[in-house]
Amino acid sequence: METRLLIAGELVAGDGPALAVENPATEETITSLGTAGAEQVRAAVAAAREAQHAWGRELTAAERAEALHEIAAGLRERTEELARIMTAEGGKPLLENRDEVGWTASAFDFYAELARAEEGRVIPPVESSQLALVIREPLGVVACIVPWNYPLLLLAWKLAPVLAAGNAAVCKPSELTPLSTLALAPLFDHLPPGTVNLLAGAGEVGAQLVDHEDVDGIAFTGSVATGTRIGERAARRVARVNLELGGKDAFIVCGDITGEDVEIAARGGAWAAYLNAGQVCTSAERFYVHRDIYDDYVAAFVAHTKTLRVGDPTVETTDIGPMVSATQRGKVTAQLDAAVAAGAEILTGGGTAGQARGHYLEPVVVVGAPAETDLLREETFGPVAPIVPVGSLDEAIALANGTPFGLGANIYTRDLATMVRCAREVRAGTVWFNDPLTDNDAGPFGGFKRSGLGRELGAEGLHAFQEPKHVHIETKLEVKEWWYPY
Ligand code: NAD
Repeated sequence: METRLLIAGELVAGDGPALAVENPATEETITSLGTAGAEQVRAAVAAAREAQHAWGRELTAAERAEALHEIAAGLRERTEELARIMTAEGGKPLLENRDEVGWTASAFDFYAELARAEEGRVIPPVESSQLALVIREPLGVVACIVPWNYPLLLLAWKLAPVLAAGNAAVCKPSELTPLSTLALAPLFDHLPPGTVNLLAGAGEVGAQLVDHEDVDGIAFTGSVATGTRIGERAARRVARVNLELGGKDAFIVCGDITGEDVEIAARGGAWAAYLNAGQVCTSAERFYVHRDIYDDYVAAFVAHTKTLRVGDPTVETTDIGPMVSATQRGKVTAQLDAAVAAGAEILTGGGTAGQARGHYLEPVVVVGAPAETDLLREETFGPVAPIVPVGSLDEAIALANGTPFGLGANIYTRDLATMVRCAREVRAGTVWFNDPLTDNDAGPFGGFKRSGLGRELGAEGLHAFQEPKHVHIETKLEVKEWWYPY
């Protein structure tokens, strides 16, 4: 397994503090690696600066597109290997990690094509003898700082548009899941050395990148707390930032969902709440269900949850693997315990699924949590589905909008008027109807309110790593009448 960093096209052992990477299913150390020392971080930024000219100025967008398609092809060829590394270090079921590699490749293919299709626009000039253009140029060097829950996908949502736009990159995966990112090194062999640099390390390495004068942009996915700190630091030197932060997504089930639809909405809800053990930024974390169908919905949800197979993430039929770490599991159970102390009732789940080792948490259905508990207000990031009855759509929308977060929201209804109303009134970056959590490379992804700043994916996700330049061309060489003397 690759444990070396990629700096200036060379694989080098990290000379910073050692980092042990744990397998969350077994609690064994997979391997230990050297993180990036301060000098190595500086070397990576310098290499990126140097390479950016060759990559972003000398090559054409069509040439960059070919190189990005090659990365996508390389990813697909190595699907099994990369999925197994992600499962070992992150605990996500193998099947989901194979999908993740596919989606990662897809982001490179998408941006390869998008970035060679247009690079700005022509605007009407102020005089007929002029030509006026808006050219979108690369920012320069972009730091890509990534969390542990989707290590390769969330890297690709940054790195693919960063490269497609002609920038060079310094990437820092989470300290919990560095191995899958370091394993990517050979995929960048055909790029000018230094175009992509891969570091490992904890927050200090990220912070050093954020503060580095020669880093023009920071693309970050992670918690609101870290994102806020990064935003503050970056503002001091007016560096560009794109922040994808936490959420507390609502899942609304409307009163027109009856009969067999209740079972469908319950299964959709369970998937939205428990996917990757609930460690998805857009996990459904609060269910608002119309009172008329509430009892049936809760019964269907509990029955389905009890059928889910929790266990070894390398087993093909496992639905839910372990959580990523003891710390993360502890945060979730503490939030649950506090809700129970305040009067909530756990209907199923919460145990360790009979596993002696590993950070397993059986998926939980919980009802009766008071509205002011953290379980209904703060991010949970675990396999927990709190279900709350509501009397009307007005109440559901008000509750959905009632937190400082606004990443995503899900709504189950067959009624078009309800869809249109929710689409307009729910304050979230993505609103899914009847198909939870489906991403689309072509659609922007990101958060309202504290869930983020800027967008990934779509054209917006490319523009995030470009600087617009207005070019004003006068074809007539003449003294203008508005010059001096007045
Ligand atoms: P985190 O904020 O603890 O860490 C994220 C990354 O930032 C890691 O690589 C970490 O080493 C680095 N980091 C830590 N301190 C830093 C600093 N001071 N300067 C620069 N970098 C620093 O988040 P996490 O626990 O790894 O991930 C879980 C969080 O990510 C959740 O809140 C989740 O909602 C969020 N998330 C958001 C999205 C999204 O697209 N909006 C997607 C996935 C996860």
